[in-house]
Amino acid sequence: MSNQTDPFKAGPSAAYPPPVDRLLNELAKLPGIGRRSAERLAFHVLKSAPADAAALAESIRDVKKLVRHCGICFNFTDSEVCSICADPRRDASTVLVVEQPRDLIAIESTGMYRGVYHVLMGRLSPLDGVGPDDLTIGDLMARIGDSSRNARSVEVAEVVLGMNPTLEGDGTALHLAEALASTSVKVSRLARGLPSGGQLDLASKAVLADAIEGRRSVG
Ligand SMILES: [Zn+2]
Repeated sequence: MSNQTDPFKAGPSAAYPPPVDRLLNELAKLPGIGRRSAERLAFHVLKSAPADAAALAESIRDVKKLVRHCGICFNFTDSEVCSICADPRRDASTVLVVEQPRDLIAIESTGMYRGVYHVLMGRLSPLDGVGPDDLTIGDLMARIGDSSRNARSVEVAEVVLGMNPTLEGDGTALHLAEALASTSVKVSRLARGLPSGGQLDLASKAVLADAIEGRRSVG
């Protein structure tokens, strides 16, 4: 072996210019994006027209600047109250509780549900240290106890539990059913047309529609 540096052996310094490395590192932080995918996305950005790359950057900046949680249901919105809570055609006395905004989107896509929502922003997960105080359960109870906290100040009459049919989803539903038992609201749960361990946002529209139609009383 000579003293010369082996040109095929990667040194400690990165092969990409620092701005590319920075983009790669940011992309690789995204869920489900490994180093290879980050490279693929970075090269796409490098090849794309300046206007397209700028549009991507601006959309990321704007979503953080403009989008917030609805003050009533925690759905994503760009105003104080989301379009569903503000809609006078929706039945604000029925509140469907879901884990994430994407579950709400999945149910909305069926067009079968005319009530309003409450987004928990997660589910109980003792192993991951997610307890009731980490979710919006307190806000849900406040909506039930004080109609001025609910959409259009309508009194809540029914709460439909729409957790995903997973172990943690079931645990969350059980916790909520117990908490709601001390209130006067009717409590029901989405029917189990959904496959166990399935995700609401992946279920077909027909299955979701059946689950909403066939919801069952709890307790
Ligand atoms: Zn809302």
